[in-house]
Amino acid sequence: MRDIKNISKEIDIPGVCTRQEQNILDNNKKPIYFQGGFPRHELFLKKGYRFPFARHLKFATVTTLWGCPFSCSYCTDSKMPPIIRPHNDVFKELQYLTDLGVKELFFADKTFGYPHKNSFPLLEEMALKFKFQFSCYVHPQTYTPKLFELMKAAGCKTIIIGVDSANLPSLKQYNRKVMKQNIDNLLIKARQLDINVCADFILGLEHETEVDIKTTINYALKLPIDYASFNIAAPLPGSDIRQRAIETGQLSFGNEGLDTFGSQGVLGNKNIDYEKLKKMRNKAIVKFYLRPTYLIRRLMKTSSLEHFYIQFEEMFSMMKKTFFTKKAL
Ligand code: SF4
Repeated sequence: MRDIKNISKEIDIPGVCTRQEQNILDNNKKPIYFQGGFPRHELFLKKGYRFPFARHLKFATVTTLWGCPFSCSYCTDSKMPPIIRPHNDVFKELQYLTDLGVKELFFADKTFGYPHKNSFPLLEEMALKFKFQFSCYVHPQTYTPKLFELMKAAGCKTIIIGVDSANLPSLKQYNRKVMKQNIDNLLIKARQLDINVCADFILGLEHETEVDIKTTINYALKLPIDYASFNIAAPLPGSDIRQRAIETGQLSFGNEGLDTFGSQGVLGNKNIDYEKLKKMRNKAIVKFYLRPTYLIRRLMKTSSLEHFYIQFEEMFSMMKKTFFTKKAL
């Protein structure tokens, strides 16, 4: 067996950290194809790993793309190139997972489906040879009807999309360019295909006021989505928010670490402090998830006792974290 310390000295993959002192963050977005084996999933299965959108307890995470082709300046992945696993390489992992009896996957790619020339053959093969159900992140700008049709045929049950704000044009200052039309089209198609949608929102970006945040929360309540994830803007490693927080002295540690949590994990902004933001986020969670109509819809979409158990456990855990966890979220 090769010594892991020596392997880490040999490997130098852009966007992948193999040594503590290695700087993996830069602005190079040239796609890289990389084939590098896959995890020993049986070890995770024994631990009873859970995922909020899973419908089965025999569940595994697979990655077909590291980094991201997009460059939203509030995100660490904006500084990592897209590193793509060739679809033939992913098949080997899917076969291995089938042999282990795994029924459900989460594709942990930041934007599943990119590039189409790699994801289309992957999805076609999945529909023909495998019987997985899966969930994944999708970027609204990569959406096409054909992508969603192939995803549905391959077993997609839930997608997670970054809506981030009700005011999409305001996100251009963070280099995020998402068209409202794409989100609207994507939501219509997902509904037609009976694919669940979770939308991510960011509360408290640097320019935002209390009114902006309330507008985003109200927008989330009106969208035809199944789940909403309300996140407080954080100074993530490699992000412009972190750089400015260091320059203004808001952050006392440097830009060298990849750790984002702890007491300085979230900061608030010049218009609204962290405590207020946290209250607004918690209120948004209650408003979204504890609507009677929402709870009835969730129950009606529950496909089995196993699914009910997972959903109940996740709901309980979310409410516990929201109201009883003191650390920054
Ligand atoms: S926010 Fe999403 S789309 Fe933007 S850089 Fe990060 S991972 Fe990519």
